[in-house]
Amino acid sequence: MGTREPDNVLVINCGSSSLKFAVIEPTSGQVLVQGLAERLNTEEGRLQVKPAEGERTTDAIPRMSHAKALEAILKRLQSFKISAVGHRVVHGGEYFSGSVQLDEEAVRKIAACEVLAPLHNPANIVGIRAAMTSFPELPHVAVFDTAFHQTMPPHAYLYALRYELYEKHQVRRYGFHGTSHRYVSGKAAEMLGKPVDSLQMITSHLGNGCSACAVKEGKSVDTTMGLTPLEGLVMGTRSGDVDPNLLLFLVENTGRDFRDVTDLLNRGSGLLGISGLSNDMRTLQEAADKGDRRADLAIAIFCYRLAKGIMALAASLDRLDAVVFTGGIGENSAPVRERTLASLKVLKAEVSPELNAVHGKHAAGRITTETSGLLAMVVPTNEELVIAREAIAFVHG
Ligand code: AMP
Repeated sequence: MGTREPDNVLVINCGSSSLKFAVIEPTSGQVLVQGLAERLNTEEGRLQVKPAEGERTTDAIPRMSHAKALEAILKRLQSFKISAVGHRVVHGGEYFSGSVQLDEEAVRKIAACEVLAPLHNPANIVGIRAAMTSFPELPHVAVFDTAFHQTMPPHAYLYALRYELYEKHQVRRYGFHGTSHRYVSGKAAEMLGKPVDSLQMITSHLGNGCSACAVKEGKSVDTTMGLTPLEGLVMGTRSGDVDPNLLLFLVENTGRDFRDVTDLLNRGSGLLGISGLSNDMRTLQEAADKGDRRADLAIAIFCYRLAKGIMALAASLDRLDAVVFTGGIGENSAPVRERTLASLKVLKAEVSPELNAVHGKHAAGRITTETSGLLAMVVPTNEELVIAREAIAFVHG
């Protein structure tokens, strides 16, 4: 009896400004090669590829589109045996409550959700189409950011609007980053040595997009994002919560139309809008350290609003066993974690500067003191592994 070659999954996470990919063996979780095309559509575009065995390569590719990035990536994957492709898809609307094997009909439904996630679903579809063309014989599986939040109760997912808007137009809160919230809540439970269904926590996924989620006994019970990924926290280029009357105010007073205003809230606000400098937290931290007042203000607003979001989500829990930080900012920025916890004094959060400095992307763990009233920790996310496991489930049925 021969041993079966292990199945590998190509995972594609095609975001608004970056495209992450990885070839993963889903049982062991071993990553054979991974990479990141970042700062897409800017002069600073670059592609990093890191094989498990071998040196990381970095190529500058100015004005690299999503399609161009994928073309360059696929050229570098020819030596790997791939059995399935898993795609992270941001918005599944009410069409999808779980993962799905992609066909034309499924792609059409994802396209129909573009109106709900104008920054993301179009990029996801570019990734899906390019990969389906390159690997026509493989199963392609979409894993949705919205699926984990399907357990939210109606009082958390409904807006206080006319109920017919939900019934006729599916206007409700969906939530996003579900794959990440699910993964880090499970990992945090493992690290605490307790079953996830005995814990109540709040996870904060802080990347270019940001959301926090109340996870009660392993299930999402509320989250900061809503109908679209614009609601909630301050993000790289997104405003998060604003007064809904702001839209009409800007239309009537600035000569913009509704489309321009929506674009402003999605692409020209958040860290970028406040600082006038960048949507990138690294750039802002460097500028703030050199005395840039608006970069510092952008970080201050980001952290304060996150603390406020965490406090609001606590209403959905009976107690708060842990606050978990993850995502590019959550894993890497000790100053953001410290500043956020400084606004959670009412929960008696007490950060440990030593632990906060060492725990991050490469070392998960606690960042608060032994005597802190609130346990806060960093848990690096691994959305790719969850997606790889979901995808391979379709290969084996
Ligand atoms: P993600 O979307 O998860 O890749 O996260 C992107 C965000 O993480 C950007 O705002 C980056 O500036 C931020 N980031 C990555 N590395 C660092 C770092 N070392 N310090 C602060 N922010 C970082």
